[in-house]
Amino acid sequence: MATWSIGEVSVTRVEEQLGFASFPPEQHLDGFERAVLERHLAWLVPDHYSPEHNRLVSSVHSWLIRTRSHTILLDCCAGNHKQRPGFARFHQLDTPYLARLRAAGAAPEDIDIVLCTHLHSDHVGWNTILRDGRWVPTFPNARYLFSRTENEIGDPRRNPKAAADPQRCNAYHDSVLPVIEAGQATLVDGGHAIDDAMLIEPAPGHTPGHIVLKLADRGERALFSGDAIHHPLQVYMPQWNSRFCELPTEARVTRRRLLEYCTEDKALLFPIHFGAPHVAAIAREGDAFSPQFVAGRAS
Ligand SMILES: [Zn+2]
Repeated sequence: MATWSIGEVSVTRVEEQLGFASFPPEQHLDGFERAVLERHLAWLVPDHYSPEHNRLVSSVHSWLIRTRSHTILLDCCAGNHKQRPGFARFHQLDTPYLARLRAAGAAPEDIDIVLCTHLHSDHVGWNTILRDGRWVPTFPNARYLFSRTENEIGDPRRNPKAAADPQRCNAYHDSVLPVIEAGQATLVDGGHAIDDAMLIEPAPGHTPGHIVLKLADRGERALFSGDAIHHPLQVYMPQWNSRFCELPTEARVTRRRLLEYCTEDKALLFPIHFGAPHVAAIAREGDAFSPQFVAGRAS
């Protein structure tokens, strides 16, 4: 397990799975050019690309953020025992994620805020667990923060598009709705300050209601970017979207804006799907950017 410090705040990576993307890069990244991958091969292999499989490496993890006053879990991976037919990486999993969370020093009842950057199935899974045949909130003392826009769009009862998408429909019914019905959800609009150190901001593009978290403590900063960026090659090529980005134009604008924020405010970037060491500082490079990976300390 690895932990980073932002001022006096600690950030620990809680892994669910570290593996390969389900699609070759040409299908995974819109605009992908193999020449760019070849140019960066020396540092991409083995943590970010496997030539043998022709797949980009893709982690799925949560960020456990501990401040003086809050214990926050940011994004909740795919979860166990969820029906996700057609998505082998997320279907009927049985991972020791909660044991890893405990090993990081947090029991489910210690989490006081769960924040989902968006409601895709690999970000909401551990919101709930199966108990006596029912999906119930995993974190009994947590307030779950969801984007209001994201919730409206993700709700199959209100959006026919979501109703027509079995993946989205399943994820909403087993991992979002039970939290709302338990009275533990808070829907956030626009910018939302959790406290003096943490600010939620809209970052539309990957999904219409996607949000990110900015953290500042003792002059140090972090950006928890959710799926605004999927793979470190997009730091060099911010115009490349993932195949899962729902609003392509907005996704490109948001990605560039967030990378600019990281360079100008010296914020460390904490994405959800980067391979090891999972975290990077961002530098300007011509009209684009370059990542400088920052390893956490063993914890
Ligand atoms: Zn994702």
